Amino acid sequence: MKCPKCKDPMVTLELNEVEIDYCYSCQGIWLDQGELELLLENDQNSDKLIASIEADKNSREKKLKCPICRKKMKKISAGIDGTVRLDKCSQDHGYWFDKGELELILKMGSKSENSRVVNLLQDMFNK
Ligand SMILES: [Zn+2]
Ligand SMILES: [Zn+2]
Repeated sequence: MKCPKCKDPMVTLELNEVEIDYCYSCQGIWLDQGELELLLENDQNSDKLIASIEADKNSREKKLKCPICRKKMKKISAGIDGTVRLDKCSQDHGYWFDKGELELILKMGSKSENSRVVNLLQDMFNK
């Protein structure tokens, strides 16, 4: 699979038993549909976060193409106490996270400061 941003080939990594696609060039991450929900621990905050996802019609960022169907993705926003802008395939293939955005989302979606998945993510990339 190629990075929607820089077109470099992405590598598949495993985060908490979920396969993620990672681009070493821009440090972006692709999650297939359903994988975000798997990474978010099941608690009230993660439900709130998923419910907060909505189309971001005012975004002027360049639209990226889905690495699976090559169609232009939608800009969406998500967040509790703050907003992160993401790209989502309109055919529901998955989500694209620019550098650092997945960490932000996972932090918002977990009630504890010390989320296990966030720690794993940091171990993986912040060496
Ligand atoms: Zn890239
Ligand atoms: Zn797609």
